[in-house]
Amino acid sequence: MSEQSASDCFFCAIGSGAAGIPFVAERKTVVAFRDISPQAPTHVLVIPKDHYRDVPSLAAAAPQVLADLVEVGRLVAEAETGGEFRLVFNTGAGVGQSVFHVHGHVLGGRPFSWPPG
Ligand code: AMP
Ligand code: ZN
Repeated sequence: MSEQSASDCFFCAIGSGAAGIPFVAERKTVVAFRDISPQAPTHVLVIPKDHYRDVPSLAAAAPQVLADLVEVGRLVAEAETGGEFRLVFNTGAGVGQSVFHVHGHVLGGRPFSWPPG
C-alpha cells in the first residue's frame, strides 16, 4: 500500500471528493468533514488528502501537512465553538483508532472532562 493512496481506504475516497461527502473546509492538502456519529455539537474530522496511517507517520513524512490539518481545525473551531476545541488523534486500535487514515477529531461546543475515558 502506498502512503499516497489506498484504493480500499474510504477516507482516501472522501479526501479526493469521490465519496461525495460535503466538506466543512478544504485546503490544498487537507479536508474537513462532519463525523457520522458526532460526540459533541461540533465533531469534525480533518484529514490529509494523501494516505498516512496515523499521526506519527504523517508528522515524520509531511510535517507541513500536519500543520495545515491543525490550522484547519483551529479555523473550524473559530467558526463554530468560539475558538475552544479538543483535538484528538487516536493512534492504535487499543486506544480507539478504527480508521487507519489519519484524522484529527475536532470536538467542541460542550464542556469536556479530564482525564478522557
Ligand atoms: P477513530 O475511531 O478515531 O478511528 O475515528 C473514526 C471516526 O470516523 C469515528 O468517529 C466515526 O464515527 C467516523 N466515521 C466513520 N465513517 C465515517 C463516514 N463515512 N463519514 C464520517 N465519519 C465517519
Ligand atoms: Zn486513506
